[in-house]
Amino acid sequence: MFEVPSKTLENGVKMPYLGLGVYKMTDREEALQAITKALEVGYRSIDTAALYDNETEVGEAIRSSNIPREEIFVTTKVWNKDQGYDNTLRAFETSLKKLGLDYIDLYLIHWPVEDKFLDTYRAIERLYDEKLIRVPGVSNHHQHHLEKIFAKANVKPMVDQIELHPYLSQKSLLNFCKENGVAVTAWGPLGRGQMLDDETIVRLANKYNKTAAQVILRWHYQNDIITIPKSVTPSRIEENINIFDFELSFEDIHSMDALNKDYRTGQDPDHFHFDF
Ligand code: NDP
Repeated sequence: MFEVPSKTLENGVKMPYLGLGVYKMTDREEALQAITKALEVGYRSIDTAALYDNETEVGEAIRSSNIPREEIFVTTKVWNKDQGYDNTLRAFETSLKKLGLDYIDLYLIHWPVEDKFLDTYRAIERLYDEKLIRVPGVSNHHQHHLEKIFAKANVKPMVDQIELHPYLSQKSLLNFCKENGVAVTAWGPLGRGQMLDDETIVRLANKYNKTAAQVILRWHYQNDIITIPKSVTPSRIEENINIFDFELSFEDIHSMDALNKDYRTGQDPDHFHFDF
C-alpha cells in the first residue's frame, strides 16, 4: 500500500507530510464520508480542532476504518475561549472524549490569545509529560510568540501550523522555525481555492500534466512543508494525495516562490478577533 512520506519531528515522532483538514465539515454524513474516503486512499493524518465541531466524527471514522490507531496521526486544537492552564486541561479532556481516543498525536494552541497562550502552553507541556499527547505544538504563532514560549518552556513546540500558500510564503517565519527545530504545517495550503487559476500555477500544471492543486501541494512538499488540504469531494481527496510521483524543477519552485504577495485569506495573528 502506498505510504505518504513523513517528516521526523524534533522528538523523533513521524508526522505525514500530507493529511486531511476537516474545517467546515460540520455536516455529520459529509464529514464521515470524506474522512473514510481519505483513509481508504492512503491518508494517515487528520487535522481537526475543538472549534470544528467534528471531533466525534473524526473518531468514529477512524474506528470504523479498522486501521490500527498507531498508524493514524491525529491533530486537534484548544480553542481561544478555553485557554489558560486549567481550562486547557479541561478542554483537552473533552476533545479526547469526543474523539474516543486515549491519546492525541499533536495538540495545538489554536491562536495565541494574549495573556493566556503562555499558560495554555504550560498545560500542553504537562499533557506531553503525562504522555497524553505525542507532540506539543502551536498554531498561528508569529516569531515573537514563539520566542516568548521558548523563554519559559522546558520543551519547545515542535510544530507551528500557520497560513501558508503561494501568495503568503512566510519566508522569515519559516527560517526562524527551521533554525529552532519547529516543523511548519501549512493551513489553507491551497489558498482556500483562490489561486488555482493563477497564470504561473496553471502553466506549471500543464507542463507537468497535473492539476493546479497538485502543483501547489507539491511545491509545499519540496519546500519541506507539511500540508492538510481540506476537501469533501471524493475525486479531489484522491487528487490531493497524488503528488508523490513527480518533481518540480528548481527553477519552477523558484517561480512559485516569487508569487508571494503577503496576502492572507484569514486573520493576522497580531490582530485577530473572534467573538466565540
Ligand atoms: P484549503 O486551502 O485546504 O482549501 C479548501 C478549499 O479548496 C475547499 O473549498 C475545497 O473544496 C477546495 N479544494 C480542495 N481540493 C481541491 C482541488 N484539488 N481542486 C479544487 N479545489 C479544491 O483551505 P482550508 O481553509 O480548509 O485549510 C485546510 C485545513 O487547514 C482546514 O481544513 C483545517 O484543518 C486547517 N485550518 C487551520 C486553521 C488554523 O487556524 N489553525 C485555519 C484554517 C484552516 P471542497 O471541499 O468543496 O472540495
